[in-house]
Amino acid sequence: MAKKTNKTDHVLNLLSTGEEMADTTNSAVVTTEEANHELADAIKESLEQEAGVEQEESLMKTPKNYVVINVMEQLVKDNVRYYMDKLEMCTCPRCTVDVMALSLTRLDAKYVVAKKEEVSPLLNYYSRKYEGNISIELMKAGRQVMETPHHADN
Ligand SMILES: [Zn+2]
Repeated sequence: MAKKTNKTDHVLNLLSTGEEMADTTNSAVVTTEEANHELADAIKESLEQEAGVEQEESLMKTPKNYVVINVMEQLVKDNVRYYMDKLEMCTCPRCTVDVMALSLTRLDAKYVVAKKEEVSPLLNYYSRKYEGNISIELMKAGRQVMETPHHADN
């Protein structure tokens, strides 16, 4: 135990001696000063950035906490793949957007204004409410796209 401590002390002595020697040279002092300046600038900059971000966030929080949700589009987007898989049709990007566009044309548009944190429960609510209509229109649109797909035209 005692031996180890002595050894550690010796190493620490060596280290501190080395530092002292470096500090006495001019270049070391200049470097340290420059580093301090840089550090101060970096701290100042990050503080300014933080203040800016906070301001922007609070601006966004007050009037823009409400969002417009395109309920029908969101629900069609969430369900389109399920019905396309059910029909065992092509699920390439072109066919997918075609099915979405066709069903959305036939479904009533539904826009809702809500707070951001209310979006998810609202979508759950409307999902149950419009489940039947969405299912019918997605199946119809899917069959139509299956019969006359546009993906070959790319
Ligand atoms: Zn396709």
